[in-house]
Amino acid sequence: MKTREALGQNTRIVVIGGGYAGTMAANRLSGTGSQVTVVNARPQFVDRIRLHQWAAGTGEAAHDLGTLLADGVRLVIDNAVRIDADRRLVVLRSGNELPYDYLVYAAGSTGTPHHLIPGLAEHGFGVGDWESAQRLREHLTIEKGPVTVVGGGLTGVETAAELAELGHPVRLVCDGPLVPSFGDRGRRATARTLDRLGVRVFDDRRVTAIGARSITVTATDTTEEWPSATTIVAVGFGIPRLAADSGLTTDPDGRLVTDETLTSVDDPRIVGAGDAVAPSNTPLRMCCAAAVPLGLHAADTVIAAMKGDRPQPIRIAFAAQNASLGRRNAVIQTCHADDTPRSTVIVGRFGAVIKEQVCRFVLRGFSWEARRPGSVRGLSRKARTTDELAQAAPR
Ligand SMILES: Cc1cc2nc3c(=O)[nH]c(=O)nc-3n(C[C@H](O)[C@H](O)[C@H](O)COP(=O)(O)OP(=O)(O)OC[C@H]3O[C@@H](n4cnc5c(N)ncnc54)[C@H](O)[C@@H]3O)c2cc1C
Repeated sequence: MKTREALGQNTRIVVIGGGYAGTMAANRLSGTGSQVTVVNARPQFVDRIRLHQWAAGTGEAAHDLGTLLADGVRLVIDNAVRIDADRRLVVLRSGNELPYDYLVYAAGSTGTPHHLIPGLAEHGFGVGDWESAQRLREHLTIEKGPVTVVGGGLTGVETAAELAELGHPVRLVCDGPLVPSFGDRGRRATARTLDRLGVRVFDDRRVTAIGARSITVTATDTTEEWPSATTIVAVGFGIPRLAADSGLTTDPDGRLVTDETLTSVDDPRIVGAGDAVAPSNTPLRMCCAAAVPLGLHAADTVIAAMKGDRPQPIRIAFAAQNASLGRRNAVIQTCHADDTPRSTVIVGRFGAVIKEQVCRFVLRGFSWEARRPGSVRGLSRKARTTDELAQAAPR
């Protein structure tokens, strides 16, 4: 066990990923006096929960990451290409290496993997990551023809509504119920709002191929070609391969497998947080609402390890799932601590106000934690361990 004197300013902590989880973790760790380095692929923090807005031209989704990090946290703009756990260093695409005493793995997730639908890579669009949203934004400035959104989850309905409110002709295609993670009332409210905005929902079909200006749509007994000038696919996020390619234990999708303290099952020096981890091999719903507390807890686990204390299992409580439906509507589906839906839903303008405040709250949380590390606290009263939350469906 290390003595306290060997910690603090002599301890090197590298955080891979400056997203919700990594930024929170780095800011909390700044309070230890350690040398904290965040390595991120770009100088901006990408506020992914607003990428549908960025693509539509109704909101900003990039902020200078340096301004969100606590004083003293070093930011390295580069790509981590390998974690060498034996030598305790991160190899960067530039060829540089970052040695560490503790590593926080917070590489997050990506847009929908291209292999899921033939033609997606060549002709499809997405909102799951910055590059995809930027490409869609540029395309929509010139293309006003019919838009198809593929996917009826939270990201799909948010994107469809955002574009329909601006006057784009939008249809949404999914092969199951709208927003499966909502309860019946939340689902009905979402369907009503989409209908009012003019979105045509086809919830019994599957898009099986994407062409330059058309899609192949398959129902139980039929296959048809539909015109589609813009096809946006939101049928799940991909997971970076970094942990798997580095030889660490991952789940089948590539998430770093950790125990309940978020410590890698392979290496006590590696702690994970956010979309890219699977605590006890059972990932939570991929969402910012989980990434933030996971990031904070990853930092607490590192701090405990540095002190020679026993790291605690994480306990998380969800409160709601929020879908913005354009700028004037939202559905707030309240949920139990374990993320299952309650009967109460908040809709309309009041819902939109709540959703907007939640989005702002995330950025404010970074600066609170930067100014006073340890100050951001979760809804702990009814919190559950990730084992207990394992039923939550992926976003
Ligand atoms: C349109 C949209 C709307 C959404 N709305 C909501 C919502 O309303 N509520 C909600 O809770 N969630 C929402 N989400 C989901 C949420 O954005 C993600 O779950 C969240 O971003 C996960 O946070 P994270 O910190 O794990 O990873 P990310 O935010 O993905 O951050 C990971 C960071 O790591 C960097 N990185 C990755 N690999 C490397 C590498 N090898 N080297 C260097 N840097 C690397 C990435 O560039 C990125 O900056 C939404 C997502 C989208 C796309």
